Amino acid sequence: MTKIFNDPSEFAEEALAGFCDVHSDLVRQVPGGAVRRCRPAQPKVAVLAGGGSGHYPAFAGLVGTGLADGAVVGNIFTSPSAQQAYAVAKAAESGAGVVFTYGNYAGDVMNFGMASERLAAEGIAVENVVVTDDIASAPPSESAKRRGIAGDFTVFKVMGAAAERGDSLGDVVRLGRKANERTRTIGTAFAGCTFPGAEAPLFSLPDGQMGLGLGIHGEPGLHDTDLPSAKELGQELVSRLLAETPEGAGDRIAVILNGLGSTKHEELFVLWGTVAPLLRAAGCTLVMPEVGELVTSLDMAGASLTVTWLDEELEPLWIAPAETPAYRRGNAGLPAGSFSGKAASDGGAASTEFVATDASRSYAAACVAAIDAARTSLHDAEEHLGRMDAIAGDGDHGRGMVRGVDAAAAAASSALEQGAGAGDVLAAAGDAWADKAGGTSGVLWGAGLRAFGEAVGNSTAPAGMELAAAVTAFAGRIVELGKAETGDKTMVDALLPFASTFRCLVSEGTVPGQAWQDAAREAAAAAAATADLLPLKGRARPLAEKSLGTPDPGATSLAMVFAVMGPHFTNTAAAAGTAYAGRESVGAEA
Ligand code: ADP
Ligand code: MG
Repeated sequence: MTKIFNDPSEFAEEALAGFCDVHSDLVRQVPGGAVRRCRPAQPKVAVLAGGGSGHYPAFAGLVGTGLADGAVVGNIFTSPSAQQAYAVAKAAESGAGVVFTYGNYAGDVMNFGMASERLAAEGIAVENVVVTDDIASAPPSESAKRRGIAGDFTVFKVMGAAAERGDSLGDVVRLGRKANERTRTIGTAFAGCTFPGAEAPLFSLPDGQMGLGLGIHGEPGLHDTDLPSAKELGQELVSRLLAETPEGAGDRIAVILNGLGSTKHEELFVLWGTVAPLLRAAGCTLVMPEVGELVTSLDMAGASLTVTWLDEELEPLWIAPAETPAYRRGNAGLPAGSFSGKAASDGGAASTEFVATDASRSYAAACVAAIDAARTSLHDAEEHLGRMDAIAGDGDHGRGMVRGVDAAAAAASSALEQGAGAGDVLAAAGDAWADKAGGTSGVLWGAGLRAFGEAVGNSTAPAGMELAAAVTAFAGRIVELGKAETGDKTMVDALLPFASTFRCLVSEGTVPGQAWQDAAREAAAAAAATADLLPLKGRARPLAEKSLGTPDPGATSLAMVFAVMGPHFTNTAAAAGTAYAGRESVGAEA
């Protein structure tokens, strides 16, 4: 349990501020995360690690000479936003390009991808290296779908060392990808982790049981088994990793035995007592192994074993010196370069002059009301959505949606007050949602709302077919970014039936208010029907079977939100006795 906190929702930000204060000789806080205290004397590739909070020392603890140039720091277990990634990159880059590196989670892939597009548009060379070391999360034939866990560290270390010695962006990326291809991790959990302020852990294991194949976001293990002795556990972990030895691998390996947060170092040393001899007996030479906490999962009890098969290129990078707040190897010396006070760009929040017709401004007020209605229903459903997401995902869906919609509501009203039309109000709401919600659903909702706004525009209040086009734009953007298809068990399963029903009814002449209600009912039914599906996208995919019987949280919240927004978007709010019908039918699912 986390005992020390103020407002739980401020936990990650407060922890980052404290961290940056105590390590102010090495790092400084910037909007979106932390960067090295000193700017390099010569331009160098900026290696930017990132992801959610809750994994300390990943990621901010690894900022320093020989390792990362900066860390993009999201909320607990939640991808940072594209805006955060962009802002940290602007603060860290020194003219030789930027590489974002992070574990393979849909939210991170999308947010870092969107930040990359924006940096590239400004002429900054930018690349992404995604870590996929977790052998429990997909079979070898689908290794690109694997999650990133403690192998993050090896990949960051290799890239950090390569960038430090002055390698080009292309080489840093090539070496990072090579390290990832040769890195495998298997983890195990003994007890779940608990969000600050939460009353119960995200998952729990019966006494005497262990979950093999844990994730680092409180995703439970893939198979539960009886808790073995340290010796049996060591054998299990080593044999699973060796079974995945990459083709053509040599015998020199980097090894990490990683604690997940509340497993004592002494326990890890006991486990090491089995792991090291077994690896040596298999003919491996252990090169500067690490036993300790490098990638954690809040206060989870558990351990993971990572092996990277080295070669003549990777080994010097693995053993190279590093000096960061949480990790020190050899003598990296104090950083060269100037002590920097360079103000970080926050992405330029210049105030905007809005151009809109009166008709669009009055529709904008309806849009603000729609977002407020979404806000009320998401606050009511926060816990319920979190519990659904905890079954096979990481439990943050309710919290993420609430953070997103709160930010969207505030941004929408502020834009409205400044005279924005409906298009700008919705776009501002979308940008704020994406920035504050984090997570996969956050980036999708944010980008979807922006697309909806761009389709609505700032000159007229949309009539039936225009509204249908805006809904189609919302859905199109979400499918384009998330690449989910019908049946993958995502929000798309509720969204596409909504969009097609609405369009079809409106084109047949049904009044928009009625068409929206009917489409929302379809969406709620489709969301409920996802209970029978296995998730093929997102964090729930590795634990697909556990999610059988529970509807997809993102589809559920989407159906709920669309139901309450309808009367406002279709200007029938005044007569909306039925506005909440869709939501109730979804709620009954639980
Ligand atoms: P995260 O998965 O990053 O923790 P949330 O918990 O907020 O984010 O959202 C989870 C929901 O996101 C899922 O229930 C699913 O509906 C949706 N989702 C996940 N991946 C995708 C994707 N690729 N395309 C569309 N929706 C997705
Ligand atoms: Mg989640």
